[in-house]
Amino acid sequence: MQTISLLTRRPLLSAKTATGRLGTLSRHFSAAAINMAPISKETDFLVIGGGSGGLGAARAASSRYGARAMVIEGKRLGGTCVNVGCVPKKVTWNAAFIAETIHQAKAYGFNLQETGPFDWTTFKNKRDAYIKRLNGIYERNLTNDKVEYIHGWAKLLSKNSVEVTLDDGTKEVVNAKKILIAVGGNPHIPPQVPGSEHGINSDGFFDIDTLPKKVALVGAGYIAVEFAGMFNALGVETHLFIRYNTFLRSFDPMIQEKVTAEYERLGIHVHKGSQTNKVEKDEKTGKLTLHYKSKAGEGVLSDVDHLIWAIGRTPATEGLGLESAGVQLNQKGHIVVDDYQNTNVENIYALGDVTGKVELTPVAIAAGRKLAARLYGPEQFRTAKLDYDNIPSVVFAHPEVGSIGLTEPQAFEKYGAENLKIYKTNFTAMYYAMMEAEDKAPTSYKLICAGPEEKVVGLHIMGLGSGEMLQGFGVAVKMGATKTDFDNCVAIHPTSAEEIVTLR
Ligand SMILES: Cc1cc2nc3c(=O)[nH]c(=O)nc-3n(C[C@H](O)[C@H](O)[C@H](O)COP(=O)(O)OP(=O)(O)OC[C@H]3O[C@@H](n4cnc5c(N)ncnc54)[C@H](O)[C@@H]3O)c2cc1C
Repeated sequence: MQTISLLTRRPLLSAKTATGRLGTLSRHFSAAAINMAPISKETDFLVIGGGSGGLGAARAASSRYGARAMVIEGKRLGGTCVNVGCVPKKVTWNAAFIAETIHQAKAYGFNLQETGPFDWTTFKNKRDAYIKRLNGIYERNLTNDKVEYIHGWAKLLSKNSVEVTLDDGTKEVVNAKKILIAVGGNPHIPPQVPGSEHGINSDGFFDIDTLPKKVALVGAGYIAVEFAGMFNALGVETHLFIRYNTFLRSFDPMIQEKVTAEYERLGIHVHKGSQTNKVEKDEKTGKLTLHYKSKAGEGVLSDVDHLIWAIGRTPATEGLGLESAGVQLNQKGHIVVDDYQNTNVENIYALGDVTGKVELTPVAIAAGRKLAARLYGPEQFRTAKLDYDNIPSVVFAHPEVGSIGLTEPQAFEKYGAENLKIYKTNFTAMYYAMMEAEDKAPTSYKLICAGPEEKVVGLHIMGLGSGEMLQGFGVAVKMGATKTDFDNCVAIHPTSAEEIVTLR
């Protein structure tokens, strides 16, 4: 009987087929036997959330260590990163980068003339198609790695069982020996601002289907800063509303100050010390008007095509039934975990954005793989855990930013000023040598070294190519490199990166 094959350890059906058949079977059973309990499935490792962390953990558990794993995803496979995060964002950043390059090419003697504005609609359609292809690849990866996949919404019933609401509304119960919660987070819109619902969040950014003329963004984190930089480079009048004087406030002060100044130089309207009081929508034109207060006084910004709230993300724990299993949350609503991703409930684990640690895709994946190794790998992995120190991160701003380790204020606090040596440089990359002053973007690097051996405890870079550059330096910092190690690496000339190994 088909049910047997669906309940076997290694289903051969593709994920989508399996989901569809399950729906059909569930309907068949409920029609045939009224009041019959939902079909019960069993697995060893049940992962709630098919995003970066969940997929990383489930695939590693099954393909590397032979565990019987199952993923439940309510939306699209790949989670935030693939669908409404890193991937479509970077593709858009690439478009913005090309727009800048077309402009800069003239300085190199190219006779380029743009005959029309950027075709956002064609670009968006192609970007959507790419993401759809990725969804398919992720689904096939699950099949190849023999991870069972159910498309539906999961809710904990107890510490070992989960109810899944399938696409057609039918429900199933899955019993599992271990459960991983990797449900990520959702962007939010501030309910306290009248008319805030006329704005969109970062998910909505990816639904914009025509090139806007004027946009307003609220937020000072990397998502607001990246979106603002991309809009501006693509020729959109861009207004960025920030609460203080600088944005990227968790980054080193050098980054905060220089990137904020560069955004203003590029023509982005940075409204400092601002607070949005009210949003109105003209129902005929669909245009928005923002009423705000800023350092410059009370202001009104009208004719806005899109208002994007990028003011933070909320862990996606609502309706997850955490209370049924007794899983503990902290004050911000993140699931509390220890260094090994254990929650307070035995055999329930959590990782990724829902734990609010370092909200980045590779962090969630790495934590997932470590957990899979610890739970299902050989003996030597029994104490495997992710080291959350010295995680490199990049902001795809204009220019790019890369950062690893401590900021200068953090290093001061940890080591004391007398034990630190800070190396800095500011210059113009050779790429801009052929350009007029107004087209030259700045480059700034800072190396923070601690102790007599001058161990590198922080590296902060801003400028062309910083995103790609940081990964290699990240390896060195993670290995505990000193300033002498950096100096001993012969420079590559002519590059910007050579300045990092020749700092005086
Ligand atoms: C605009 C934007 C840009 C970003 N850019 C970058 C970047 O450049 N680099 C980077 O490293 N990170 C970036 N991030 C962050 C990155 O996307 C996240 O850190 C990462 O996706 C977290 O992975 P996760 O597995 O914890 O959660 P997610 O990837 O969010 O996956 C969670 C999944 O769980 C599903 N789910 C939730 N509840 C349930 C339920 N009850 N039942 C079933 N399924 C459920 C959700 O639908 C979702 O698919 C970006 C994020 C955003 C929003």
